[in-house]
Amino acid sequence: MNLDLTPEQQAFAAEARAWLQQHVPARPLPSMDTEDGFAAHRRWEATLAEGGWSVVAWPEQYGGRDAGLIEWVLFEEEYYRAGAPTRVAQNGISLLAPILFEHGTPEQQQRYLKAMTDGSLIWAQAWSEPGAGSDLAAIRSTARRDEERGGWILNGQKIWSSRAAWADRGFGLFRSDPTAERHRGLTYFLFPLDAEGITVRPIAQLDGTTGFAEIFFDDVFVPDADVLGAPGDGWRVAMSTAGNERGLSLRAPGRFLAATDRLIDLQASRSEADETDAVVDAWIRAEAYRLYTWQTVSTVQDGGSVGAEGSMNKVFWSELDVDIHETALRILGPEAELRGPQAERDGRWAEDYLFSLSGPIYAGTNEIQRNIIAERILGLPRGGDGRRA
Ligand SMILES: Cc1cc2nc3c(=O)[nH]c(=O)nc-3n(C[C@H](O)[C@H](O)[C@H](O)COP(=O)(O)OP(=O)(O)OC[C@H]3O[C@@H](n4cnc5c(N)ncnc54)[C@H](O)[C@@H]3O)c2cc1C
Repeated sequence: MNLDLTPEQQAFAAEARAWLQQHVPARPLPSMDTEDGFAAHRRWEATLAEGGWSVVAWPEQYGGRDAGLIEWVLFEEEYYRAGAPTRVAQNGISLLAPILFEHGTPEQQQRYLKAMTDGSLIWAQAWSEPGAGSDLAAIRSTARRDEERGGWILNGQKIWSSRAAWADRGFGLFRSDPTAERHRGLTYFLFPLDAEGITVRPIAQLDGTTGFAEIFFDDVFVPDADVLGAPGDGWRVAMSTAGNERGLSLRAPGRFLAATDRLIDLQASRSEADETDAVVDAWIRAEAYRLYTWQTVSTVQDGGSVGAEGSMNKVFWSELDVDIHETALRILGPEAELRGPQAERDGRWAEDYLFSLSGPIYAGTNEIQRNIIAERILGLPRGGDGRRA
């Protein structure tokens, strides 16, 4: 692993830093889990795209800079260091785009990729169902063939779909062959959230915002042009996204490096708080995650892949995030309850704390990730009584 940056990479990071300094909003945007906040974040996506910073690692033809993985990590570091807004387009950019690149038709790539980089098409991930979260293969929503119209009829219910209340389109799995085995007979669909037969019902979150939604499908027609990958091959298509979500693409270390930097400043400004050990611990873990990411980047650049190690990353970053924010709240004491301009960071520490609590749940719960680590990395037997099979 070589950690020395080339002059070009240093220049890339400096250019990003200069642009972000000029363009990042001076005050935090309202939460993207509110209607106003969602709209403000959508505008920020357009600004990022105008500057050419929305998808640095993508090909130029789709609005990227053709940059490599190292530049992407560098950009993320600069992005979070600058305190830039959370990406409301991330479902599309991080979860859907990698599979559109891999499995999409040229026409789908043309239609959807560019539009997700500037916030003009924002996507919701419609995977979970009331009986199918950790056990995703248990999904019961159905897709029935409609030969006459050249497409499929969707029925069923999805749940916990982030920001589906305001997003434009959704992507998800449906059971297209009820006679096939659990993991077979699933098909991956793309659909507009305002299609006839779709009802989107918001669900309030812990902080009262209505960022989540249930999505009900009542005879919704989707043309063949919006099937992603081959019919019946949805599980394999979907799993190429799950690796991305848990591993590198969703949580580059920049986010945690920036949070620990803010934590250090907070501790330094409150001499009465005695959380030095916890602050140092958070800093060390963020640095460890950073170094591990650089190692992963080296591996991928040398032709390797992330694999089950993505589950280790997921457990690591999600627990680190909770610890960083719990430490911040202890330092702030009762002040952590304040909101608005009189509060430290406009009350963002408490908001970010509430969000950090969801990290061990989304992108596959940490219990499930530990199962994967146990079985695929440590070679332990599946579940059960603790004896080796
Ligand atoms: C902030 C947030 C955003 C989300 N956004 C989306 C989204 O945009 N789209 C979407 O489709 N979904 C989304 N989800 C849903 C998320 O993917 C699911 O909540 C998650 O997969 C867990 O599924 P579940 O809630 O059905 O819990 P369950 O699967 O019912 O699990 C309940 C508990 O049992 C444990 N458990 C289950 N099976 C096992 C096992 N075999 N071994 C050990 N423990 C087990 C789980 O770890 C968990 O602790 C989001 C969730 C959150 C919190």
